[in-house]
Amino acid sequence: MAKKVLVTGGAGYIGSHTVVELIKSGYDPVILDDYRNSDASVLKRLAQIIGKEPEHIVCDVCDQQMLEHIIETHSISGVIHFAAYKAVGESVENPLKYYSNNIAGLVSVLNVIKQNPEIPFVFSSSCTVYGEPEGLKEVDEKTAKSIPTSPYGYTKWLGEQIIEDLFLANKKARMMSLRYFNPIGAHESGLIGELPVGKPNNLLPFITQTAAGIQDKLFIFGQDYPTSDGTCVRDYIHVVDLAEAHVKAMDHLLSLQKGCHETVNVGTGKGTSVLELVRAFEKENNVELNYTFGPKRSGDVIEIYANVDYAFSLLGWRSTRDIKDAVRSAWKWEKSIRNIK
Ligand code: UDP
Repeated sequence: MAKKVLVTGGAGYIGSHTVVELIKSGYDPVILDDYRNSDASVLKRLAQIIGKEPEHIVCDVCDQQMLEHIIETHSISGVIHFAAYKAVGESVENPLKYYSNNIAGLVSVLNVIKQNPEIPFVFSSSCTVYGEPEGLKEVDEKTAKSIPTSPYGYTKWLGEQIIEDLFLANKKARMMSLRYFNPIGAHESGLIGELPVGKPNNLLPFITQTAAGIQDKLFIFGQDYPTSDGTCVRDYIHVVDLAEAHVKAMDHLLSLQKGCHETVNVGTGKGTSVLELVRAFEKENNVELNYTFGPKRSGDVIEIYANVDYAFSLLGWRSTRDIKDAVRSAWKWEKSIRNIK
């Protein structure tokens, strides 16, 4: 029988893509979401991709009693925990919202893992834990973590620490923190993708909304950074590659006989500048984008990309899609939700 994997936040951007890849790999995902930052219509869209609506439960991840009940009644074999807030700016304005949901939500899930240490656990962490590494552009898992620049960043930084501390006290638990770099793109069907609530903060959703006429113009934040073309550099990872990494993480944890807490970078290993991403979007989609240069955004890291050797040696995973795939699929998705031909 297919193993059931509970996917908290499974209706969201990365969660929904992971649900597809779990099914493709023979798992039986159970979505747990209360749709506060997502839309239940994703279930119908998922059904178009995978042939049936995935099992789904409306639940706040902070509701530990309900989680315990679900784990037991659904014979859950693994948990992937996405459910969390992720807007950096909002976290600065409303830190308690972030601490109460992201930290309390994680602790609630981990309490259940503590009671069921045979259930592997995968956590959505972020390259934000590296901050602006001094004198380094490429970071590996041994690169020192730095002080986060936002409450959002702290929730990832502290989240990893909470998992580590739980592991030190419960050596049987099998856990992994995946440090995502910059997830972009959408499923090739154009049926699922990123659906930001309100004005997008992230670059590619802002680009696609500008091309769709929802935003007037894209402001590129800063043009005289010490990079190849003066704009910031990130490691943009295709969301389907990222989803596949979660499946590999679950495969790996399930295969282990002993406990662990692994931290693994999930990126492409390649840096791309803001201007390069904008130009790739224009070229691949044959669309002219209205953009201009604006002031620097405070707190922006100048240049960072992943060393991905550990993901390959531990999980046998590496990204296979590129920026072109990502900008094409993101535009296909934006057009499909805006009814643009
Ligand atoms: N960026 C930009 N204009 C925007 C949004 C983002 O120039 O409207 C830049 C931003 O300054 C950064 C890069 O795009 O250099 C990626 O930003 P994003 O917020 O997507 O990711 P993060 O900064 O969290 O890595």
